[in-house]
Amino acid sequence: MSNSQLTPGIAPGRLPADVIARNFDDVEPPFDMHEAQVAADRCYFCHDAPCITACPTSIDIPLFIRQIATGTPEAAARTIWDQNILGGMCARVCPTETLCEEACVRETAEGKPVEIGRLQRYATSVGMARPHPYARAAATGKRIAVVGAGPAGLACAHRLAMKGHDVVIFEARPKAGGLNEYGIAAYKATHGFAQAEVDWLLSIGGIEIRTGQKLGRDVTLDGLRADHDAVFLGIGLAGVNALGIPGEDLAGVRDAVDFIAELRQADLTTLPVGRDVVVIGGGMTAVDAAVQSKLLGAENVTMVYRRGKDRMSASPYEQDHAAQAGVRIVYNAVPLRISGAGKAESVDFAYATNGKPGAETFTLKADQVFKAIGQTLAGVPDGLTLSGGKIAGPGAGVWAGGDCAAGGEDLTVTAVAEGRDAAEAIHAHLMGRA
Ligand code: SF4
Repeated sequence: MSNSQLTPGIAPGRLPADVIARNFDDVEPPFDMHEAQVAADRCYFCHDAPCITACPTSIDIPLFIRQIATGTPEAAARTIWDQNILGGMCARVCPTETLCEEACVRETAEGKPVEIGRLQRYATSVGMARPHPYARAAATGKRIAVVGAGPAGLACAHRLAMKGHDVVIFEARPKAGGLNEYGIAAYKATHGFAQAEVDWLLSIGGIEIRTGQKLGRDVTLDGLRADHDAVFLGIGLAGVNALGIPGEDLAGVRDAVDFIAELRQADLTTLPVGRDVVVIGGGMTAVDAAVQSKLLGAENVTMVYRRGKDRMSASPYEQDHAAQAGVRIVYNAVPLRISGAGKAESVDFAYATNGKPGAETFTLKADQVFKAIGQTLAGVPDGLTLSGGKIAGPGAGVWAGGDCAAGGEDLTVTAVAEGRDAAEAIHAHLMGRA
């Protein structure tokens, strides 16, 4: 946090170190072997399994669960990775309750799905403790530039490396991992898992990562095109939307994505947080900022969303998680102004109908305000076709995937699927099959 963000109400060490450590430990403990087998035994191994259709990466879920049930979790891991090379992280961050587990026939019949996410975590943990299971095909002599070392870029790079191509990843930040490293709540990826998974993925060989390389600043699309046989853009959404209200520039007001990124790299006992925190927004970023503020010791944390509960992009499971952590969620209210003498002290809101403010207002005390009302594409090279603010037409020799690309939901698992599929398309193109 910059000094300009430090105000008297925002302080580190609101909780003892041992309490903070406990608060940020695994939100859901991993299965041991026995628990995994018991959970696997609940699967009906459905023919035409609806869970597979609901998975954006189409993992053969009944197959991997059967492999766990028969005592071969390393084979289960391979089944998962064949479709989703970041299956370990997806097991931790996927909204399974709205994907595979929602579709599970045992959810439909009994309201209690097979615990697919936890089983996936178990299998990939066992598999990652073994040598990397994929070998590279014979070298093709082709070199591909991947821009962005997030889930889309990493999935693309791994699949290309498997096929014998050489890959250079250009990453703007100091570390690889993208949102897995910088953009999700710390308690979802504990014990350095994001970097461990990147290291494991890179152990296939043939992938070089150059950090501190930003598109438009350190490298250009034209330059990458000239030096490589293909380019994949997985640059995510680096811009943030502004509230456009008075007081937005006061000390104590910041983008939730910056807070989350800082938190992921920080010593949590020294990370300052407000006493009265207001988070504006209704997505996962808002939930992650709100819950983590509470876990750091903020006394009052309120999330305010402009529409109703059913319109919130954070899933009902995440909303419940926030509520259980002590976060108050106010629906149907829009911010009017942030007030204070040089620093945030309160936020005025108007109650809203369908996101439109009405006459009735209320005020929340706030020494820290997080803005989480969506991210946008930033630093896009000229010449790309955009649709809905995202890359729709990358152009000759250029592919795109993940959050920066049009179509598909902004989920880690969707980014992995798009990176993987782009790698297949690039391979077919380079080998003269498309
Ligand atoms: S739908 Fe549920 S019970 Fe059927 S295969 Fe998938 S996980 Fe197993």
